[in-house]
Amino acid sequence: MSSVFANDAFAGKTVLVTGASSGIGEGTAKAFAAHGANVMINGRDAARGGAVLDAIVSGGGSAALSLGDVADSAYCDRLVKETVDRFGRLDVLFNNAGICLHGPVDETSDDDWDHLIGINVSGSFYMARAAVRQMKAQGDGGAIVNMSSECGLIAYERLPAYSATKGAIVMLTKCMAIDHARDGIRVNAVCPGDIDTPMTDLGWAHLDISSEEIREKLKEHIPLGKVGRPLDIAHAVMYLASDAAGFVTGTLLPIDGGTTAR
Ligand code: NAD
Repeated sequence: MSSVFANDAFAGKTVLVTGASSGIGEGTAKAFAAHGANVMINGRDAARGGAVLDAIVSGGGSAALSLGDVADSAYCDRLVKETVDRFGRLDVLFNNAGICLHGPVDETSDDDWDHLIGINVSGSFYMARAAVRQMKAQGDGGAIVNMSSECGLIAYERLPAYSATKGAIVMLTKCMAIDHARDGIRVNAVCPGDIDTPMTDLGWAHLDISSEEIREKLKEHIPLGKVGRPLDIAHAVMYLASDAAGFVTGTLLPIDGGTTAR
């Protein structure tokens, strides 16, 4: 893997990644581990989470796995405690776990809405709160990178509920950034465009087209003419988590091939 970061850029740092058993979270957990971090992987699926753990450890990296649901506030507190018990401290939270829901408001049930809000908004809030409490207790700062989306910045068809959750992350990020700046805790958000992950196919389930056709369609509306990779997001998260971003807090970073520049 080619990288602008030194191999030991995160040596001695502990990074917690939620939703790390697939897609962007998996790619980012592996990238941090490849650059020396101790990585706590959160996921809900033992087989998929175990596979990510094995890949990191067999490659010489340092990682541990915690299975649980970020919509459960008590679990989020426990996850941070497990991380500290295992690695001694918490330096970086990548608050990534999330789900997507497509469809206009009049086709969205109360249950679907509650489920979405529970994971994308409450889950992100519980994790951020638990991380801030730990980082403040440590007394030497930290970095939180929240997962928003291009959908938190611009409107798309058939995505009102999902976009509302990603818009909420925008303001959670900005408000936390100013509240905790004097604690040395920097809080930023990434706003990915179309990234090639298992989530990518979901929005097209109502059309009878293949994964390849979906990706071709996506390329047509992305100025750079390509779909992003999990590693594109991993590199941005690593930057925001690093000392190179020491004067960066409260920002929303689109990584979208130019889509939101239109
Ligand atoms: P993905 O489905 O591969 O990954 C989502 C991960 O979150 C999975 O590992 C899943 O198990 C986990 N997760 C979901 N609910 C959870 C819960 N309650 N507790 C713990 N873990 C949970 O999809 P992805 O594309 O990698 O998505 C990761 C994040 O990126 C999401 O927040 C998503 O909204 C955001 N995002 C994705 C794209 C994209 O194009 N793929 C674009 C913008 C933002």
